[in-house]
Amino acid sequence: DSLFSTQISHLALDIGGTLIKLVYFSPNGDNCEDGSIVVGNNGCSAVQGRLCFAKFETRKIDDCLDFIRLNILQHSGVQHPNGTERDKLSVKATGGGAFKFADLFKEKLGIVFDKEDEMHSLVCGVNFLLKTVPREAFTYLDGQKEFVQIDHNDLYPYLLVNIGSGVSMIKVDGDGKYERISGTSLGGGTFLGLGKLLTKCKSFDELLELSHQGNNRVIDMLVGDIYGGTDYSKIGLSSTAIASSFGKAISDGKELEDYQPEDVARSLLRMISNNIGQIAYLNALRFGLKRIFFGGFFIRGLEYTMDTISVAVHFWSRGEAKAMFLRHEGFLGALGAFTSYKD
Ligand code: ADP
Repeated sequence: DSLFSTQISHLALDIGGTLIKLVYFSPNGDNCEDGSIVVGNNGCSAVQGRLCFAKFETRKIDDCLDFIRLNILQHSGVQHPNGTERDKLSVKATGGGAFKFADLFKEKLGIVFDKEDEMHSLVCGVNFLLKTVPREAFTYLDGQKEFVQIDHNDLYPYLLVNIGSGVSMIKVDGDGKYERISGTSLGGGTFLGLGKLLTKCKSFDELLELSHQGNNRVIDMLVGDIYGGTDYSKIGLSSTAIASSFGKAISDGKELEDYQPEDVARSLLRMISNNIGQIAYLNALRFGLKRIFFGGFFIRGLEYTMDTISVAVHFWSRGEAKAMFLRHEGFLGALGAFTSYKD
């Protein structure tokens, strides 16, 4: 079969529940969005160019098909199959959609998916970034972003927390050595889904924008609300700590309409981020892991989200564990699938 298929070795897809992520090679970097990675500039590689990134909503998969048709197939010099059964173009694909949409890609673009395991791709993607891309990992605490230079010989073990529609937590011990140890269904999909229902906003960007302007203290029940403004210092809780997410909504007899959507969005973002930070910390503790890398498109480089997660990890671990973020957070699986071309 492979005799008759041509590998397009410059495109990989990660088709998730919410978003489709594309990584593709472009010799001149035309139409590349921000964050592209220069490859082959060390003189060792025959190919020089850029790794480019693109994303589409899974529910608008036709936009993705058009993009590939116009920007990748036509520019690649690879001939579109002429319709015979034998001519196939093969690309690396991961995520649930690699199964769900396999027939669609075959039918519409003549592309056959060479499927890569999702967890394996995630881990490969992170390892690739940490080992080869400078200024990839950073910490975010107290409004300060600090890049961390990772020593290749001292990379493992670490905990990878991928916050996509759902959340996966993976203990990584080496190249190809990993185990999915935990997860939670309260993830990015929950934030977006509940956010849409509660605020009537239409998109993730709109929801983020709302959360930016909101104040979670309007809806969250704080320790100070219970203790009359004072700290519960005996057990180390400050008056501003959240005692109960959305807890104030029970007491004052208000309806949803009485709250500002901004405040609802803010509480929701805080609740989801806090919860993930806490579960991540508990799993790091379980296996004695000091470093936690957070990825997935939920984060989107948003300061408030990163700060909440960092504070949760810092608070619960008493400064022992460190939350770290990745510049190419959303493309981990797609990058991992891309790097598998050389296997
Ligand atoms: P998946 O592979 O499950 O689709 P991703 O890592 O792509 O996961 O993350 C999806 C999540 O990212 C969404 O649930 C949402 O919280 C968030 N997100 C970020 N940007 C967008 C966007 N433009 N549209 C929809 N969701 C987005």
